[in-house]
Amino acid sequence: MKPHTDVLVIGGGNAALCAALVAAEAGAKVRILESSPKAWRGGNSSHTRNVRCMHDAPQDVLVDAYPEEEYWQDLLKVTGGQTNEHLARLVIRSSATFRTWMHKHGVRFQPSLSGALHTARTNAFFMGGGKALVNAYYLSAERHGIAVDYNARVSELKLVDGRFEAARVTHTNAAGEIREEWVYAKTCVLACGGFESNREWLREAWGQNALGEWSADNFLIRGSRISIVIRHYLCKVCLVTLDVYGIGQAIDMRLAVIHGFRVNDP
Ligand SMILES: Cc1cc2nc3c(=O)[nH]c(=O)nc-3n(C[C@H](O)[C@H](O)[C@H](O)COP(=O)(O)OP(=O)(O)OC[C@H]3O[C@@H](n4cnc5c(N)ncnc54)[C@H](O)[C@@H]3O)c2cc1C
Repeated sequence: MKPHTDVLVIGGGNAALCAALVAAEAGAKVRILESSPKAWRGGNSSHTRNVRCMHDAPQDVLVDAYPEEEYWQDLLKVTGGQTNEHLARLVIRSSATFRTWMHKHGVRFQPSLSGALHTARTNAFFMGGGKALVNAYYLSAERHGIAVDYNARVSELKLVDGRFEAARVTHTNAAGEIREEWVYAKTCVLACGGFESNREWLREAWGQNALGEWSADNFLIRGSRISIVIRHYLCKVCLVTLDVYGIGQAIDMRLAVIHGFRVNDP
């Protein structure tokens, strides 16, 4: 079967978009399959706020220095040592320069907000939050001629002799009608979310509390659609909260919403 495209990217978040853009920049014909509708595109990436960057001296939105070794040690603390050092250092070193590439694709940064978190040294904040990050990449993808299918959920991969051949995708249109398709490609990038989007893995990692409850079951509110619905209804309360604390950044409303939900949660 003749491939439909050079690079098939499965997923439509930060990882997928970066892979798609790099492939397109290298001259490949690229197609993205995103399971969400356009309005909900971007997965967990649309809820992010910042990216941690190493630097040996102050850089645009970052103060002081955050050297490679300190970053590496921080990472080890978080992962309990279960880290691939080669890959980790590759990412850490790239973090010193990748903002230039992101800027080229429309992402803008702002300094950390004073008094909110101690991140002015370590984290570069996306102006407009993760939604703006994702929207900038989708716009750049459009300019690079990358095809994007929304409501396109991949359910199966066809491998031949251990090599990717095709992905089975279910398209759902606005009327709820379903169409199945096998998409053939020379190569495939699987970028449909990691640990944080896998409820079973989260349950396993966080375990049960003394009451036998699974802590991770309460994480479903984090960044989910329900929080956005609640945000709508709690908007006035949140704005008062934000005014009081002077947070003033839309994405931080998420925190106020989480608190609101816990209070009302039966
Ligand atoms: C509330 C919140 C705040 C966060 N804040 C930060 C932060 O400030 N800084 C930071 O570095 N990290 C942050 N994180 C972590 C960060 O969001 C993730 O590490 C990152 O977004 C993962 O990107 P990804 O592209 O791998 O996955 P995602 O962004 O989750 O993208 C997965 C994509 O795959 C699609 N998909 C899933 N299944 C299929 C399928 N079968 N077929 C087709 N498409 C599929 C989804 O629709 C989605 O578009 C935060 C996470 C959350 C939840």
